[in-house]
Amino acid sequence: MPDRGPRPFRFDAEVSPGEKRHFKHEVGETYLGDPVEIPVTVVNGTRDGPRVFFSAAIHGDELNGVKVVQEVADRYDPADIHGTLVCLHVLNVPGFLAQQRYIPIYDQDLNRSFPGKSHSNTAERMASAIYRTFVSQCDLGVDFHTSTRNRTTMYHVRADMGNETVSRLARAFGANVVLSGESESGMLRSVATAAGTPTITVEMGKAHRFQRPLIDRALEGVESVLAEYGVRPDQPVTWPGWRKVIDSAAEKTWLRADSGGLVDMEWGPYPLVHEGDTICTVSDHFRTEERVVTAPFTGLIVGILENPLAQPGHPLCHLVRLDGETTRAVENEIERGDAGGYRADGLRWSGDGEAE
Ligand SMILES: [Zn+2]
Repeated sequence: MPDRGPRPFRFDAEVSPGEKRHFKHEVGETYLGDPVEIPVTVVNGTRDGPRVFFSAAIHGDELNGVKVVQEVADRYDPADIHGTLVCLHVLNVPGFLAQQRYIPIYDQDLNRSFPGKSHSNTAERMASAIYRTFVSQCDLGVDFHTSTRNRTTMYHVRADMGNETVSRLARAFGANVVLSGESESGMLRSVATAAGTPTITVEMGKAHRFQRPLIDRALEGVESVLAEYGVRPDQPVTWPGWRKVIDSAAEKTWLRADSGGLVDMEWGPYPLVHEGDTICTVSDHFRTEERVVTAPFTGLIVGILENPLAQPGHPLCHLVRLDGETTRAVENEIERGDAGGYRADGLRWSGDGEAE
């Protein structure tokens, strides 16, 4: 990036080079006519460099990223960076207040509403305000998510690896597993990427929790991204030890329950399963009937049910096929006792200290 000298970050106000400012920015109004405001921190470096946004809680109950963004906003000062950090702490404020995924009460998905329109529905108006004011001014971005409630997800990145600028960003973040693919229309990452702001999604753990080991990994990922793009030029870019990019054509499937009842998870502790392995059983209350759910192919469990009740059709497990080479790499990692990407602190990957 050519050195233009440090620039002010302008919206309806201005954050000068060398300044760090915390503020709330209005993106809508409540039924009472009060402002709906998102908390924002802009850290404008004393030296020029890229503008990077970090966003969380676009789904209101996905909290791990909220903690990541809080700590990013706290950790870096203008003298530490070349460029600008734009920390969007909570995007879906109405959902955050209600601790639910979508914008109440009509359940609009903010992450299907970008770039938004200023004269459309609530979600699109919010999206438009966020997008125009902040995202469109940035050179790259990282959007933090978790699984939806009652499930958990392995720590991984989602990114369109066919796009070179996105691939560079995804690699710099340093996750072991990258699920490649274009996203659905209206998603922040696809819209921003198409408009020239390469953006990745980080999926980490479960909703409604702060999971410290995952948050720490994500902070390392942020540091690595800042190093890669010269925002923190003296820092190293992280290499995670191994990396698997699972392309969009790879076989992946949600295994679903065929009967209602109680679910006992049998997999683990690592989310690598071989074809035919038992993943879980579903039994009725009298244990007269028990269905065994097995892996249809060798692969990684990237998402799993946590609330242990199921009815027919209920998703139990999101499984992605691994080729032989990657399977062996993962097995070696496990044998070395080095599979930190899977389970933090010696537990399953949930990473929040809960014994399972
Ligand atoms: Zn989400």
